[in-house]
Amino acid sequence: MYDIAIIGGGIAGLTAAIYGQRAGKSTIVFEKMSFGGQIVSSPMVENYPGIAAISGSEFTERLLEQATSLGAETMQAEVQGVEKEVPFAGHGQGGDEEVSKALFRVRTAKEVFECRSVVLAGGMERRLLGVSGEERLKGAGVSYCATCDGMFFKGRDVAVVGGGNTALEDAEFLSEYCKRVYLVHRRETFRGEEGTVRRLAEKENVEFVLDTVAEEILGGQAVEGIRLCNKKEDKCFVLNVSGVFVAVGQIPKNEPFASLVKLDEAGFVVAGEDGRTSVPGIFAAGDCRTKHVRQLTTAAADGTAAALAAVAWVNGGK
Ligand SMILES: Cc1cc2nc3c(=O)[nH]c(=O)nc-3n(C[C@H](O)[C@H](O)[C@H](O)COP(=O)(O)OP(=O)(O)OC[C@H]3O[C@@H](n4cnc5c(N)ncnc54)[C@H](O)[C@@H]3O)c2cc1C
Repeated sequence: MYDIAIIGGGIAGLTAAIYGQRAGKSTIVFEKMSFGGQIVSSPMVENYPGIAAISGSEFTERLLEQATSLGAETMQAEVQGVEKEVPFAGHGQGGDEEVSKALFRVRTAKEVFECRSVVLAGGMERRLLGVSGEERLKGAGVSYCATCDGMFFKGRDVAVVGGGNTALEDAEFLSEYCKRVYLVHRRETFRGEEGTVRRLAEKENVEFVLDTVAEEILGGQAVEGIRLCNKKEDKCFVLNVSGVFVAVGQIPKNEPFASLVKLDEAGFVVAGEDGRTSVPGIFAAGDCRTKHVRQLTTAAADGTAAALAAVAWVNGGK
């Protein structure tokens, strides 16, 4: 029996393990792919406070080492579901004693693990554009996070592809220091906030490229341009840019828990800053939960808050 089962070995999950262990609780972290999560593939992180520059893989190694040296257990396995058990027989009167003994079963393909609380930290994936050149030039000009990588393109021309709020906010963020920002959208109008669209329309260095789809990202060692096709005019052309920011959607990894906790329309776990979900004893942390900013710092903050809330729950709180 573990005090806290953590599903997802990204920054949120590993931070939760550190805080859980340091509070004297037993923790186990399940990871289906690579410990570290999304940041593993990032060649350089330059916005984590206190660390001027570090590769995503080294950042992950340090974090994993910190968690395991404190006694956190790790399990390389995909969690397929979590079941909530009724507390032990004989404790049916409610109150703190019952709460403290609530039991969850975490199920992988091969085993079932019992625990007193659960932290969901499965993160998310960015939707790909699915065009030629995208995969090859990832990290060499193709980015899925303007907040993370925007500064690398200071004074240069970039394209943002997408029509929702993320794309609009990315374009606004980049327009502060990029020379020119092309905002490429396949429809005639944007889906995002009208106010942001208005502000962007007034910016001299932002250009809307509407009714237009991306066909190919061009470049040898790094991005040199993007080939686009205007659907209305049936005309294809190339924009010479050094960066392509893809903002065409986010996919939270919460499917196995859809019938367990409340998710929002986009599939994120509904939870506030303390990580509490619709089910007492289950907490959510990091990119998988409802929130606006998804970064390493916010994932670490969420892991902290969710672990401490889980510790309080295990200790008999509510
Ligand atoms: C290329 C790239 C570069 C980035 N650069 C920066 C940057 O420079 N600075 C910055 O602040 N942010 C950056 N980010 C964003 C940052 O990486 C994320 O905000 C952060 O990693 C989120 O952490 P997380 O733990 O919530 O989720 P994730 O990192 O997504 O980790 C979740 C983990 O859970 C695992 N998982 C999911 N479901 C299950 C399951 N059912 N069972 C077991 N395991 C499961 C996944 O495999 C994954 O490893 C970048 C993102 C990308 C993609």
